[in-house]
Amino acid sequence: MQTAQALQIPAARLEMLPALTPLLLDWYDASKRDLPWRHNVTPYRVWVSEIMLQQTRVEAVKEHYQRFLAALPDIPALCAAPEDGLLKLWEGLGYYSRVRNLQKAARVVCRDYGGQLPASYEALLKLPGFGEYTAGAVASIAFGIPQPCADGNVYRVLSRILCTRADISLSPVKAAFRQCAASMVPGLRPGDFNQSMMELGATVCLPNAEPLCGQCPVGEHCAALNRGCAGELPVKAAKKPRRIEQRTVLVVVAGGKVLLQRREYGGLLAGMFAPPHPEGHLDSGQVKARVEKLGGICHQALPLRHAKHLFSHVEWRMRGFLVRAHTPFPLEEGVWANAEELTRNYALPSAFSAYTKDLPLWLARENTDG
Ligand code: SF4
Repeated sequence: MQTAQALQIPAARLEMLPALTPLLLDWYDASKRDLPWRHNVTPYRVWVSEIMLQQTRVEAVKEHYQRFLAALPDIPALCAAPEDGLLKLWEGLGYYSRVRNLQKAARVVCRDYGGQLPASYEALLKLPGFGEYTAGAVASIAFGIPQPCADGNVYRVLSRILCTRADISLSPVKAAFRQCAASMVPGLRPGDFNQSMMELGATVCLPNAEPLCGQCPVGEHCAALNRGCAGELPVKAAKKPRRIEQRTVLVVVAGGKVLLQRREYGGLLAGMFAPPHPEGHLDSGQVKARVEKLGGICHQALPLRHAKHLFSHVEWRMRGFLVRAHTPFPLEEGVWANAEELTRNYALPSAFSAYTKDLPLWLARENTDG
């Protein structure tokens, strides 16, 4: 009753949900994508894939997943990985707090569970970086525990099947969808069921008013399709606009090396190495003064292209300068990295990719030329 109220629909509409489970499982068996984490399923592999897949496209995850597992094949290896090496393996996936939490949780697992993830939803939920979704995914897929896992894909699918205009960004509505998903999870194959819902959202019941209802295994039972309003759902309150920050990115090079500084621990891109990027849009005179403050003498400051990067709550509008100094000067904070070190040791955040993408190649060439 509470679930129906939160979703603003008649309670009777919820009753048909469990009948959809076998349809979804059959469709999943016939249509699931061949993804690396669906082979050789182990709790660790499921866990890594679920963390990587949060806020990241499947194609990008595919590239990183095998490399990560080859370097860190089990939880003890993840525990022991040095911080910068770990960040390097995550380079390009963004949201680096995920991999830090992965390691924090691995350390708890090594300390408290002998290096094996616990086969308990409640115990998983207590680990760093595990919310209801991740705990439900690992519990169901890796351990066959009948727990639901509902993310944005699942909220969208259920919004449409139930034809509810309840706002999917509200916590009580999300909780109601989790109840709905829980009512559908079977005792056998709970992991496949959860994946079928996610798969449906990712490949058929697409966002942005573009569901492919003609290919849907539950179309006959979909209230939104029957009412002709699937494209209008789900309802989601507009996000607050991002805060805009101006930054000037200083690509300081000398003797075939580039200057990198570690960002503060805490907040955006915590503890990551990056070129200096002071706040504000500086002009070339201010850039030179800034480099002098770092201890160097700048003999050239060439403006680079403007760039923009979107974080979840902040937008950086960046200007860049290529700053040439005569020699790598002593630094109070930071390191000088040559092309090889840059490629091998440092994970540079994609926020700076407009300025750093070709840097290793370019430094290597400069070194050869110079
Ligand atoms: Fe989504 Fe269309 Fe299937 Fe309904 S019928 S669940 S809107 S794809």
